[in-house]
Amino acid sequence: MIDQDVSGTRGSGKTAMGQCYCGALQIRVMLPVSWVAHCHCSQCRHYHGAAFVSWFGVRHGSYWLNESAVVWFRSSDNAERGRCRDCGTPMLFRSQRWPDELHVALAVMRESVGRQPDMHVYYDDRVEWVPLQPTEPCHAALPAHDTGA
Ligand SMILES: [Zn+2]
Ligand SMILES: [Zn+2]
Repeated sequence: MIDQDVSGTRGSGKTAMGQCYCGALQIRVMLPVSWVAHCHCSQCRHYHGAAFVSWFGVRHGSYWLNESAVVWFRSSDNAERGRCRDCGTPMLFRSQRWPDELHVALAVMRESVGRQPDMHVYYDDRVEWVPLQPTEPCHAALPAHDTGA
């Protein structure tokens, strides 16, 4: 359960909460989040069983998470993917490539993170069975960004 007040310590003072399918794994993030993007990489596609996965980034120290409900799976040499230990909802990603932030699946959020996805990443790896005509910029990878750390 969310039992820790993380509001008002930095950022806007606003927060947004999300949870897995069964509710055992809960997260609350401080707003604003660092970025929001649709990821078309094959690892996201397979792990989530979805055509693409929409993510946002949040700095370490700017979210509260009940870690005991998370099972971490090492999905590559430098990255781990986190899912609920009970229902298996995949919702977290962390990597040594972006050591200052946690990535959270946008679709598990119950409250708005206050901004829209504004780019497609790993766009070259997209499936051809979902026709897309994106108006947002499309990148071959996640562009360098300021994590605010
Ligand atoms: Zn769950
Ligand atoms: Zn991905």
